[in-house]
Amino acid sequence: MSFRLFDLNDPQRHAATTTEGPLLILAGAGTGKTRVITCRIAYMAAQKIDPNSILAVTFTNKAANEMRERLAGMVDKDVAKKVTMSTFHALCVRILRTDIEKLGYKKNFTIYDEGDQTGLIKKLITKTAAIGEKLEPNAAKSLISKAKNNGWSAPQDEKTLIGAVFARYQAALKQLNAVDFDDLLLLTVKLLGEHADVRERWQRRYRYIMVDEFQDTNRLQLELVSYLAKRDDGMPPNVAVVGDDDQSIYGWRGAEVSNILEFEQHFPNPTVVKLEQNYRSTNAILNTANALIKNNPKRRPKSLWSGMGDGDKIRLVQAPNDREEAEFIANEIARRKVDETLRFEDFAVLFRMNSQSRLLEEMFREKGIPYKIVGGKSFYDSREVKDVLAYFACTLNADNDAGLLRIINTPPRGISEKTVERALELSIKHKCSLFKGLQLPELRESIPARASEAIAEFVAQLDAWETKLNEPLVDQVAVLRKIIEESNYYDDLRRSCKNGDEALKRESNVRDLVEGFSRYLENSNGGLRGYLDAMALRQDKEEDEKDKEQGTGVMLITLHASKGLEFPHCYLVGLEEGILPHDRSKVEGTLDEERRLLYVGITRAQKTLTMTYCFSRYRYGGTIPCTPSSFIKELDPNLIERIDLKKLLNTPVEAPAAKSRFAAMRAAVERSG
Ligand code: ATP
Ligand code: MG
Repeated sequence: MSFRLFDLNDPQRHAATTTEGPLLILAGAGTGKTRVITCRIAYMAAQKIDPNSILAVTFTNKAANEMRERLAGMVDKDVAKKVTMSTFHALCVRILRTDIEKLGYKKNFTIYDEGDQTGLIKKLITKTAAIGEKLEPNAAKSLISKAKNNGWSAPQDEKTLIGAVFARYQAALKQLNAVDFDDLLLLTVKLLGEHADVRERWQRRYRYIMVDEFQDTNRLQLELVSYLAKRDDGMPPNVAVVGDDDQSIYGWRGAEVSNILEFEQHFPNPTVVKLEQNYRSTNAILNTANALIKNNPKRRPKSLWSGMGDGDKIRLVQAPNDREEAEFIANEIARRKVDETLRFEDFAVLFRMNSQSRLLEEMFREKGIPYKIVGGKSFYDSREVKDVLAYFACTLNADNDAGLLRIINTPPRGISEKTVERALELSIKHKCSLFKGLQLPELRESIPARASEAIAEFVAQLDAWETKLNEPLVDQVAVLRKIIEESNYYDDLRRSCKNGDEALKRESNVRDLVEGFSRYLENSNGGLRGYLDAMALRQDKEEDEKDKEQGTGVMLITLHASKGLEFPHCYLVGLEEGILPHDRSKVEGTLDEERRLLYVGITRAQKTLTMTYCFSRYRYGGTIPCTPSSFIKELDPNLIERIDLKKLLNTPVEAPAAKSRFAAMRAAVERSG
């Protein structure tokens, strides 16, 4: 096994081998914090600490997977498998699936995604609002989410419309045996807080707890960690947290940087380790980042240095517009790949807003440059994937109203919308699920016989699938294939597609999904329930795991999603007022957080960094003029090389070989460099 402690520097090694008591690593970007966590786990395993008792929490599924891979290279496979590495949300699902009954939910609860949430909230607003009263569903959703992340499971004032909707929303979820993403945390904290027996059991299970990116935890996440680590049996807490206050970028989601800055108050007398050597970036990159972040008033000063050499200056490119910006990047990556013998995976393009990726994608596709996108619309958002997942979820638990509504007439089976509405009303009246509502004699009496037959057939089909799925030693993958076949889903899909290509693509998505389940079973014993949970959790905000399967290409990624990652050559685009810093930050007074976001972006780069801004950009349905980001003045001019794309493009080129505009530009770049 390739785990060697001497791969760490002195303070890193000190941190990795301090396994008992609280441990705090508060250190700058690229200093090996994440590496220390991984090595610490490997070290513990070598010390014969039971790997089952180790819990490492990361912020994204991507980070958890990466850590899992890194660990797999250091310890035996079966040891690595026993360590729990998960996101906060996945950890909560694990705890709730075992113990949620104490809170009056059933163990087979459904996880509501954002779409389900919005649907339900919309319905409740219509029902609750008085004439003339208005509430935007998305605004309501985010207010409710904020409240829950503050630890409120009920509104403070039910007389307001939002309060009433919040109260009804919580009641409806509970009745549907469903939880949303915020509930996962809220309910887990409630469960551990109120039930000492449950808390103690999980404390005994996880003796060693580690949390990466601790600067981005919110109040509830800290509470969760505290419940697990502060032991009822009087043993000292074994909790190690690592993070960087300069990289706290989730304030808008309720993250509290005080969680890490005041760690000592939550866990007294920690071992504190300082890391100052950056192993990731050249000095030009690191010092550019340092010059920027110095402008933030409230921060712990750090001195970071790098042994990676000075490196090239940071290039600051000004482009006439966003189209030229994207074209420049696509052309240059294509060229550099060849000239510098690089791979497409060595490049990343980072941006502030999802919408910025559209032009880049277009340009990359045009030029045949492979790319993978994180943070964009994903596989899991496509309707066929959602439909089929709903079929599977309803087979496991037909009381899943959101799922049932999705599939009840996909494919059409003669149950009219009116009938469904009637069934829903009855289900609300009788406080039961839609599935049970469909079977009420009261419903049968009020709808046409044909509809009753259709319902009976549908109910029988779901029951039959459920029975099959629960047979001992059954091949679940085969059952899922059967469900898709017997539901005639493919026929319906084909009918609803514009052309053959689209149909093929969508069908292959469905097959990929079943394939995914079969691969999942190879590495896990969670069964269909576990798979559906993993699918639901993947939709967690910023990420898309599909790039894992798709493999190669330039990484297109939002700044938020890039946290913790590194790339040899980075392009940071759209450094303009209103984008970075974002418009909203001026109203909300979060300029410091925008600066940290740029800091995170800059510190992702290992060897070269190119930043770009435009003088006009397509936004809000039209072309608008842009001004360079105010952050640019804060950078150290000695480390920056300015390039004016327009000048380059207009420079006459003598060489006859330079036929295309791109070649002209390239020639000019070479001359000026
Ligand atoms: P971030 O703040 O961005 O999350 P980090 O502090 O977690 O960064 P890592 O990602 O762990 O830093 O490490 C940054 C890079 O430096 C990685 O490529 C890692 O392998 C490398 N590295 C860290 N420590 C050492 C070391 N002692 N020797 C060689 N390489 C190292
Ligand atoms: Mg890290």
